Amino acid sequence: MVVGDGIGREIVPATIDVVDASLASAGCDAVSWVELPTGWAGLEEAGDTLPETTRKTLAELPGWIMGPHDSSAYPEPWRTRLSPHGNLRRRFELYANIRPVRCLPGVKSTVSDMDLVFVRENTEGFYSDRAMHAGGGEIMPTSDVALSIGVFTRRRAEQIAHAACRLAQRRRGLVTVVHKAHVLGLSFGMYLRAAEEICAEYSGVTLDGVHVDAATVHLVRDPGRFDVLITENMHGDILSDLAGELAGALGMSPSLNASDRQAMAQAAHGSAPDIAGQGIANPVGLMLSAGMLLEWLAGQGHGEGYARAGHGLRQAVEAALHDGRGTPDLGREDTTASFASAVVQRLR
Ligand code: ATP
Repeated sequence: MVVGDGIGREIVPATIDVVDASLASAGCDAVSWVELPTGWAGLEEAGDTLPETTRKTLAELPGWIMGPHDSSAYPEPWRTRLSPHGNLRRRFELYANIRPVRCLPGVKSTVSDMDLVFVRENTEGFYSDRAMHAGGGEIMPTSDVALSIGVFTRRRAEQIAHAACRLAQRRRGLVTVVHKAHVLGLSFGMYLRAAEEICAEYSGVTLDGVHVDAATVHLVRDPGRFDVLITENMHGDILSDLAGELAGALGMSPSLNASDRQAMAQAAHGSAPDIAGQGIANPVGLMLSAGMLLEWLAGQGHGEGYARAGHGLRQAVEAALHDGRGTPDLGREDTTASFASAVVQRLR
C-alpha cells in the first residue's frame, strides 16, 4: 500500500482496517501489507517522490491501494513533474479510470437519482504531459502566448470503449460518449467513431453521444439518463468531481485505475491539505475504491473470495452511512478512525 501525503495518513490506515475485516469475513487469507514510500515520505527516505524501490515493487503486483499526493507543494523539480500517481498511471498503462458515482441511502445529496460510472481515459487527452515522450505538452513561443497540446490515440479510444462496453453489459446497457466533436473533429471525432465501432460488437449495449458542456447540465438536471460515460482525461476529472459532490460529497467518490493486468485503488479526491492531520477526513472514497480493487482481483482470477470481500465491504460502508455514521463533511460526527471502527463492526 502507498500512503501518500496529506489525509493519506488518515484514510489509508482506516481503509486497511476495513479491507482486513472484509477479507476475514469472506473467509480469505489475511493480506500482509507493505508500506511503500512516495511523495514527501519518498523524498525523505530516498530523495525521490516515486523511489525506484517503490516502482519496482509495484511493477510486480496485481493491485495496490494508493493514497493521495500533494504534488503542487513539492520542491522543484518534482512540483512540475508528473505526480507519483500520474507517473504510475502512465508507466503501467493504467488506461481506464473507473469512477462510479451513486447516491447512497441515508446520505444527503443534491440530486436523487444518480447511479453512473465514468470510464475516464487516464493516460493522454488534454493532460498531454501524460503522453509525451519528452516535454510536458505545453509550449510558450513568446512570453505571452501559451500552447497546450492534447493527445488522442485510436488505441486508447478503443481500449476505453471496450472497458465501457464490458461494464455496461453488467449494468443498464447504455454507453454515452462525452465529447466536443463538432469543434474538435479530429480528436473527439476519432473517439466517437471508435466508440461506435466497438459498441456495435457488444450485444445489449446502446451508444449515445453528449457534448461535454451539455453533460454538465444533464448531470445536474437528469443524472438518471446516464449509465456508463466515456470521457477524455481532463473532462472526466472535472465531470466526476461535479458528479461526486452532487451525489453527496467528493470524499465519498471511489475510483480504480486499471490496465488489463494491474489496478490501483485511489479515491477520486486529492490530498486535502486544508484538513490533513485533524482526523476528520472522509475515508469512504478510498474504502469503496479498495472494495472495487477486491472485486477486480476476483475478476482477474485471484479467487472468488475477493468478490465476496469487496461486496461485503461496500455493504458495510453503506450500512454505516445509512445508520447515520460519517465524517463532518457529511454533517456527521465521526472521526476517520471511528467511522472505520463502525464499518469493521458491521463486517464482524
Ligand atoms: P487534486 O488536484 O490533487 O485532485 P484538489 O485540488 O482537487 O486536489 P482536494 O484535495 O480533492 O483538492 O480537496 C478539495 C476540497 O475537498 C478540499 O476543501 C478538501 O478539504 C475537500 N476534501 C477532499 N477530500 C476529502 C475527504 N476525503 N474528506 C473530507 N473533505 C475532503
